[in-house]
Amino acid sequence: MSGSLVLVATPIGNLGDISQRAHEVLAVADLIACEDSRHSGRLVKHLGIADPRYVVVNEHTEREATKRIVETISSGNTVALITDAGTPAISDPGAVVVRAVIDAGLAVSAVPGPAALVMALVLSGFSTTRFVFEGFLPRSGSDRERRLADIAAEERTVIFYESPGRITRTLTDLAVTCGDQRRIAVARELTKMHEDVWRGTLGDAAAHFAANPPRGEFVVVVDGAAPTPAADEELIARVVDESLATGLSVRDAADRAARTLGVARRAAYRVALSRRAARDTP
Ligand code: SAM
Repeated sequence: MSGSLVLVATPIGNLGDISQRAHEVLAVADLIACEDSRHSGRLVKHLGIADPRYVVVNEHTEREATKRIVETISSGNTVALITDAGTPAISDPGAVVVRAVIDAGLAVSAVPGPAALVMALVLSGFSTTRFVFEGFLPRSGSDRERRLADIAAEERTVIFYESPGRITRTLTDLAVTCGDQRRIAVARELTKMHEDVWRGTLGDAAAHFAANPPRGEFVVVVDGAAPTPAADEELIARVVDESLATGLSVRDAADRAARTLGVARRAAYRVALSRRAARDTP
């Protein structure tokens, strides 16, 4: 008798995206682990699955639920783990359960399927060769500033999730840190009736979303920063460090480096942000 945990990806808006295999696994699972049994109940009912047994896994129940899931699998049963939408454990519960099941020496597998970040990335038109997923950005404070600075300096395509209530502010903040000419794509309501991908510069995006209050679910994709030649980086860092040490702000330190060295202001600003972040890190 061998039980297992199966992570099952579910639709991010369009029920037609449920896979044949996801349907089969949910139909035979002894227990369905989900974030919200009322929400997942609608999908399970749509699939015509009778008498499902649920265990709720969220930040409040994770410990107890994980224990029950491990015990259930140890007794030879199959537990299917789903979340409200998309791939479990991606900005959703799941990672703690997976770790516990692996640590208990039990089997884990997955039924792949929708993930908003992947769909947004491939629709963005930006490089898909190398990319970074940032989850949700911190709402405020130095953690947020550091993450924005990381995004500004990142040469790979960056993807993150954002709520409609915060997207305008985030785009405005990004336009400041990355420069308003950096290209972005904002993917909205993917796979749903009002699916839309807005593409343009950060400056235009901040203005567009401020004028058209956003509704729905969003994924933001930021084009990677243009690479700065290594020699320039070192030189800029040296000039920036001197300026920061005298108490100049990041912006002024970047301006000074750009003027003194004749390099692009954007490149100097990117270096200045990362030097300040390095200074702030204990
Ligand atoms: N596990 C999910 C996945 O695989 O994409 C993500 C769950 S996370 C809690 C929810 C966030 O994903 C939303 O706030 C939004 O940023 C993004 N998202 C989910 N569905 C989406 C959709 N249909 N269109 C655009 N963004 C979506």
